[in-house]
Amino acid sequence: MEIYADNAATTKMSRRAIDAMLPCFDKIYGNPSSLHSEGQRAAEALMSARETIAKVLGCEAGEIYFTSGGSEADNQAILSAAETGEKKGKTHIVSSAMEHHAVLHTLEKLKKRGFDVTLLDVHENGIVRPEELTAAIRPDTALVTVMYANNEIGTLQPVAELGRICHEKGVPFHTDAVQAVGHVHVHVKEENIDMLSLSAHKFHGPKGIGALYVKKGLPLTSLIEGGAQERGKRAGTENLPAIMGMAAALSESAAQINENTKKLLPLRDRLVRGLMQIPHTVLNGDPQLRLPGNVNVSFEGIEGESLLLLLDEKGICASSGSACTSGSLDPSHVLLAIGRPHEIAHGSLRLSLSEENTPEEVEYMIGAIRDAVARLREMSPVWRDLKEGKKQYVIQ
Ligand SMILES: *Cc1c(COP(=O)(O)O)cnc(C)c1O
Repeated sequence: MEIYADNAATTKMSRRAIDAMLPCFDKIYGNPSSLHSEGQRAAEALMSARETIAKVLGCEAGEIYFTSGGSEADNQAILSAAETGEKKGKTHIVSSAMEHHAVLHTLEKLKKRGFDVTLLDVHENGIVRPEELTAAIRPDTALVTVMYANNEIGTLQPVAELGRICHEKGVPFHTDAVQAVGHVHVHVKEENIDMLSLSAHKFHGPKGIGALYVKKGLPLTSLIEGGAQERGKRAGTENLPAIMGMAAALSESAAQINENTKKLLPLRDRLVRGLMQIPHTVLNGDPQLRLPGNVNVSFEGIEGESLLLLLDEKGICASSGSACTSGSLDPSHVLLAIGRPHEIAHGSLRLSLSEENTPEEVEYMIGAIRDAVARLREMSPVWRDLKEGKKQYVIQ
C-alpha cells in the first residue's frame, strides 16, 4: 500500500490543472507583453486566470499579483508594508509565534533594520486571542501579519475578527493563507483582509507559482526590478503555464470545498480517535478549529524522525513537523509555541489528508502507527525510564 498523507507539504496536481497547462507550452506560447497576436492570445489567457483567482477570493482582478509562490508573496507583503510604514516613522510589526518561516525570517531581517516585532502568543490550542491583538497594536504599528491556517497543526485563526481590529486601528492586515485557500472558504472583503498570500502547489496546482492579493489603494513595492509586468510590481515574464494551472486548480478546489470537507472530517476525526488510543499521546492544536485534513500528534518517548522512517517502510508518507524544518534537529517552533516541551515536540507526527484518502487507508495508518510507536518505545531508553518510574511522563 502507498498512502500519501503529506498534503500540507505539497499536493499531487489535479488532472484539470495539468490539462490547463499543456496548451501553454506549444500553443499559447507568446509573451503576454508582445503586441502581436501570439502575444495577445497569451495576454488574454493571463487575464482570464487573474479573473478566475480574483473571483474565488472575492476581489478584483487588478488586486492580484502573481509571484513565484507563497514565500515570495509573504516576503513582498511584509517588506512592502515595512517600507511604507518606515516612511511615516512606523517601525513596529505584530505577528504570531507560529508563522511560517517565510514570515518569521522576513521579520528577523526587519529587526536587524531596526524594526520592533511583537509575536502574539498562540496559547495551548494554537490560536491567537483577538483581545491580545488589540492590546499589541501601537500608534507606530506598520503591519499586522497573522496566518490563516497553520501548516503544522492546522489551526484556523479568527481572521475576520483580527482584520476588523486592524481596520478599527487603521493598520494594514496581511494573512498567509497558503494552507487555507482551496481548503476552507476564504473571502478577502468579508474577512477584512488587506493582503493575502497563496500558493498553487498546496491546492493541487503546480509548484513555483503563487499570488499576492493587495487591496486597491494600498501601496505595494516590488522585490524584483525589471520590466513592467504585474503593473510594475513584479518584474519578469509571466509563468503562463503555471498561472493557468494555478487558476484551474483553484477554481476546482474552491468548488469542492464543501464536498471535500464532508469527506475529510470523518477521516480526520477517526484518525485522531485511533491515535489517541495509543497511551501517552497528545493531539496538537484545537480539535475542531483546524483544517479538515490536518492531524498532528505527539507521542511520548519516541523520535518523530525514526517513526517517519518506519512508516515510510510501510508505504505511508507523513511528516514530523513541517517539511521546511525536517533535516534540521531543532524542534518545531510551532509545537514549542503551543507549550510542548522539547522532548515531546521531537516525538510528533503530522498527517495531512486530501480528498483522495480513504477510510481503509485511515484504518491501515492507525494500525501501522500503533505498531511503529510500540516498536520504537521498546527500543527507547527514555521509555524504559518512564515505565520504571525513574522519569515522569510529560503526557499523561
Ligand atoms: C508552503 C507554505 C508557504 C510557502 O509557499 P511556497 O509556495 O512553497 O513558497 C508559506 N506559508 C505557508 C503557511 C505554507 O504552508
